[in-house]
Amino acid sequence: MAKTEGQKLEEKLCYKIKNIGMERPEELEKAMEFAEGYKNFLDHAKIEREAVRYSIQLAEEKGYKEFERGKRYAAGAKVYFNNRGKNIILTTIGQKPLVEGVHFNIAHIDSPRLDLKPNPLYEKDEIAYFKTHYYGGIKKYQWGVTPLALHGRIMLADGTAIDLEIGEHEGDPVFVVTDLLPHLAQKQNERKLSEGLRGEELNIVLGSTPIADKEVKAAFKLKILSILNEKYGITEADFLRAELTMVPAQKAVDVGFDRSLVGAYGQDDKVCAYTALMAELDAVKPEYTTVTVLVDKEEIGSEGVSGMASDMLLHYMEDLVEAEGERVRDVLRNSLCLSADVNAAYDPTFADVYELQNASFINKGPVLTKYTGARGKSGSNDASAETMQKVIKYMDDEEVMWQIGELGKVDAGGGGTIAKFIADMDVDTVDLGVPVLSMHAPLELTSKLDVYYTYKAFKAFNK
Ligand code: MN
Ligand code: MN
Repeated sequence: MAKTEGQKLEEKLCYKIKNIGMERPEELEKAMEFAEGYKNFLDHAKIEREAVRYSIQLAEEKGYKEFERGKRYAAGAKVYFNNRGKNIILTTIGQKPLVEGVHFNIAHIDSPRLDLKPNPLYEKDEIAYFKTHYYGGIKKYQWGVTPLALHGRIMLADGTAIDLEIGEHEGDPVFVVTDLLPHLAQKQNERKLSEGLRGEELNIVLGSTPIADKEVKAAFKLKILSILNEKYGITEADFLRAELTMVPAQKAVDVGFDRSLVGAYGQDDKVCAYTALMAELDAVKPEYTTVTVLVDKEEIGSEGVSGMASDMLLHYMEDLVEAEGERVRDVLRNSLCLSADVNAAYDPTFADVYELQNASFINKGPVLTKYTGARGKSGSNDASAETMQKVIKYMDDEEVMWQIGELGKVDAGGGGTIAKFIADMDVDTVDLGVPVLSMHAPLELTSKLDVYYTYKAFKAFNK
């Protein structure tokens, strides 16, 4: 049937976000294939150290060399800089001189989790436990009765590092936070949801057998120490020089009969980290020099030497730019940054926290988020119209399907990203990333089409 005049006018004048699966079903196969590499990354990058290690491995396979200060690089050269094993900065030198600006693409590789307290080990009533202190914004009740794996590093007194990863391999034990049986939960059920499990109740079960000696005071705790000592040569005091954390032991899986979704821990923000990394590795003599950064500590406010609030990226830029005899401020002023972080996907079950006209949806591509923040945009980098124009043009020129989005209804809550820290460096910045369902839960969901299209958007940016 022929379109009416009104329909034609509607098509011409109205903005409509489209479902990629509806418009381009032929892309599904490529998205499925891309997701396999992504799931593999997730399984090797549950904490920031592992993400850096795995990224370096992939980068070196693609010919990246460690960045050398003072060296001048030719267009097409690929280098990386490892900041304390917790951040990686990857660069492909572009065709334009640095002074015309660089293209930053920055994602975070830390995710919410249960960190061990500095002195974590104890026993109570003949069960051994670790005490934890949660990291990042979690709904605490979600972290009970789910299998957990131990990750992190212990530094011995002599400076030797021991990296742990227990609960991830076939035959490994896992760890768990217990919850009360419903039969005895009458009082607990009256608690507010935010206190379903309280911070000091997130204790990890480690074992239940003693050193069989009735003269020992804490025989169950001692048993755990004896196992750790036998296996790693450590004593209780070594926990004081450690960064250990509990993360969901679950591997990345396909979700749904159609396998259209990835279910995994830590997709905020390894989904943007992986897509940014892949687009970086693929860059061949880009127009602008690419600076792809995977950062730590976003979930606790980007603080610390490995967080985006530190000067570590500025110092790298100084080293890169000074070798060209330019001033770093001239380069930054002309640069453009994608703050690559996830957004909240519309969840039909909890529809009332979203404002549909500005919500982001799964399967509609990467979300361009002009501003984040809370209340009156507090704590937000509010991208300019000019910045929006530039980034939208990169995507539209390459026919990348994308969507506009806001975090949720006005005053429903809010949140921030690393965008404001980059803007503080005098760089035009906007947020672009994948919509996620069940964000910050032990199992988060993303759509494979969105993951693939976010990669395509980043590729367009690195062209
Ligand atoms: Mn994030
Ligand atoms: Mn987050």
